[in-house]
Amino acid sequence: MIENLLREEIKGFKNYEVENVPYKYKMDANETPFELPEEVMKNIGDIVKSIRVNIYPDPTAEKLREELARYCSVTPKNIFVGNGSDEIIHLIMLAFVDKGDTVLYPHPSFAMYSIYSKIAGANEIAVNLNEDYTYNVERFAEAVERYKPKLVFLCNPNNPTGSVIDEEDIIRIIEKAKGIVIVDEAYFEFYGKTLVPYIDRFENLIVLRTLSKAFGIAGLRVGYALSNGEIVKYLNLVKSPYNLNSLSQRIALEVLKSGVLKERVNYIINEREKLVKELNKINGIKVYPSHANFVLCKFENANDVHKRLVERGILVRNFSNVKGLEGTLRITVSSADANDYLINALREILS
Ligand code: PMP
Repeated sequence: MIENLLREEIKGFKNYEVENVPYKYKMDANETPFELPEEVMKNIGDIVKSIRVNIYPDPTAEKLREELARYCSVTPKNIFVGNGSDEIIHLIMLAFVDKGDTVLYPHPSFAMYSIYSKIAGANEIAVNLNEDYTYNVERFAEAVERYKPKLVFLCNPNNPTGSVIDEEDIIRIIEKAKGIVIVDEAYFEFYGKTLVPYIDRFENLIVLRTLSKAFGIAGLRVGYALSNGEIVKYLNLVKSPYNLNSLSQRIALEVLKSGVLKERVNYIINEREKLVKELNKINGIKVYPSHANFVLCKFENANDVHKRLVERGILVRNFSNVKGLEGTLRITVSSADANDYLINALREILS
């Protein structure tokens, strides 16, 4: 009986699944291996004690937005914060997508563009990347012109392929688009190039960012969007009043101020280069170039490799059963220990 009440779009839906097995090294979700910065950890008791949990959080997250604005060299009116950038993708759909509207995104890319499109009842257009997982800019631009989507997602660097799209190509797409272009820069810090300087120049651009990756606080769920005042105003119309809890707002602020980012990002980039070099030496692995904190690899028998890594306590993300990603596993760059352990395991498995 209840199933009959369910919205048509949700029937037959499957949960976003995450692997829940014991592990020694977690290299499956593009998290960082680092704890909270030392100075934040040292004061964590005082930070927590200073939060008045009987009172609702600041609905506008003013202090956090000010600090994010400083970090991005924009003004706080350009910033919208969310419970992870996942929530912001959902809110963008809620504000702008009517049932049957077209949402266009690259494929393969981050699964949530499609999942939230489905929930919104959107007409989805997935534009394939090239066979080597680079962006096919011509194909993408043509599709934008042809389908006139309400929303266009670009993921830069793209998850799970690590590939990127150049600034001038993104601008070409923004200029062609009749709808809003969302440039998801979740992995910006590992790449270094951004569309943020353009947020006030175009009326139809949103840049998405997160503190879950380079800043390392995935568990606190803090994402943000950068855009012009009008779009930020519309996102505020559809959000829950207290979408970001007090603890997350406060710790995010401390982490932003802590100054460990550069050193940590350099560590991961350095580990990525080492990892790629070692992976390339092993027969039976095709490694795709990455500008993020993960590396996509193709194997002849990826399911078997995945299973044997899990047996050794290593979690990587298995995409081998996903259309367009056949035979691939995505490895998150982690600590030197974890990366070495993984390399040794792969050497053994593939020997
Ligand atoms: N965008 C991309 C491209 C991602 O890979 C992720 C996380 N996997 C997100 C957005 C969501 O990040 P969060 O909700 O943790 O901010």
